[in-house]
Order: sequence, then structure tokens, then C-alpha cells
Amino acid sequence: MAEVELAADCSRCFGLCCVVPSFAASADFAIDKPAATPCPNLAQDFRCGIHTELRPRGFAGCTAYDCFGAGQRVSQVTFGGVDWRTSPGTAAQMYAVFPVVRELHELRRHLGEAARLVAGTDLAVEVSALDAEVEAHAAGTPVALQEVDLARVGAAVGALLATVSLASRSGGGGPGPDLSRADLVGSDQRMRDLRRASLRGALLLGADLRGVDLGRTDLLGADLRGARLDGADLSGSLFVTGPQVASARGDGATRLPCELARPDHWT
Ligand code: SF4
Repeated sequence: MAEVELAADCSRCFGLCCVVPSFAASADFAIDKPAATPCPNLAQDFRCGIHTELRPRGFAGCTAYDCFGAGQRVSQVTFGGVDWRTSPGTAAQMYAVFPVVRELHELRRHLGEAARLVAGTDLAVEVSALDAEVEAHAAGTPVALQEVDLARVGAAVGALLATVSLASRSGGGGPGPDLSRADLVGSDQRMRDLRRASLRGALLLGADLRGVDLGRTDLLGADLRGARLDGADLSGSLFVTGPQVASARGDGATRLPCELARPDHWT
């Protein structure tokens, strides 16, 4: 696997996540902001001017965002450290490339986890080859990056992750229930055995998962916004990311995978 950072380092980014996406005024963002437009809180040094008070100022969505290292790569590698303010002619291309690299990096983050899950098995070769292909795309020129068929790459990764997930969830008595893409909005899941279940793409907004053991539960793409995770055990969950966790509500007793930090606003 190529050694590329898959975690954000805002100190080496040109504030791309504060410029590229559009925001709609909501519980997550206090203002409307068009795409490809700097947030009014973005300072001249590309730092957030309200970083320490994002939640009280109505920008909770910013605290639940992760570029998976795409920001510093696009800023420092793809565009060689030349920012959009000093070289406005590159801005449109940089803005187009950032979401592509972000998606590729998120796929690589999942493939890295898959590699650990299937280490020493036949699937490991397949995971390694696909990761190398995704990395080759992410290392492309700005023009090449804009031509990446993200739908095809994402589908290939999704299919392989599904195979890895099933293999991983099949031990210890077989897989749990298949609740992929289930609508569980606002539901009470506290009495349900969700160990080794598939919750891929499930809608769990506001769901009550307090105290639930999510050991070997596949959470790939599950929408956990506002879900209650107090005391839940996600330490062995599969394919859960920082943004998913940060969008949920947990407490000091929630157990997380060791690579995920406990969100500041939980304490
Ligand atoms: S509020 Fe801060 S972190 Fe959020 S988009 Fe604006 S500058 Fe970026």
C-alpha cells in the first residue's frame, strides 16, 4: 500500500472544505453559502476564524467533516503548494479536483481497514490490487483526476468491501441480520441484537442505540446523524468513519475503534 496520509492536516490545506462545497442554512450551518465561494469565516491564512466556537455559532456540520487527507494533498501535491488566492486561474480546477480526491481517499481508508481484516487470506491480494488502482487515480494530474469514473471505482470498492464484510461477519455463529439501507429513522434498537449485522447505508437518524453492542456490525455509509450512541460499543464495528461518529451523540462510555478520536462535543 502506498504511504499517503488519509487524515486531514488543515495546517497544509488552502481551506478547500471551507470554499468548495455549498452550504444550506440548517441545524448544521448557520448560513447559506454557494459552492466555490469562501466561507466568510475563513481567514487569510486559510484557518477558520471561529474554530473554537463552531457549535455555539451554528456550524456543527464543520466539526463533523473529514477530508481524509485530500485537502493537503490537493493543496501541496496536486497543485504544488500554489493556492487559489495567489493563483486564481487555477481555482476552478482545484475546486473540481478536491471532491474527487476526497472520495478516492475515503475509499482508500476503507480498503486499509479491509486489508487488516483479511490479512493473510486470499482476499488480501485483491484488496491490495484495488487499493493500488485507487491510489493511482488519486495521484493523477488535475486533468486526469477530473476524468476519473468515480461511479465505477466506487462500485468496485463497494463490492469488494461487501465480500470482506461478509467474511468478517460470518465468524462466531454466522452473520447477523441484513439491514442494509433499512429505514430505521428514530427507531429504538436497544433490545435488538445487532452484532455482525449489516447496517450498510441504513438510515439511523435519531435512532436509539444506547448501550448496543455493534461488534462486527458493518456501518459503511450508515447515516448516524443525531443517533444516540451513549454507552454503545463500536470498538469492533466495520467501516465506520469519524464524520459518522461526530454526527451522532455519544458519551464517555461509548466505545470507539482505536483509530477514531472521541468527538470533543461528546464530553
Ligand atoms: S465556519 Fe470555519 S470551518 Fe466552517 S466552513 Fe467556515 S471557515 Fe470553514
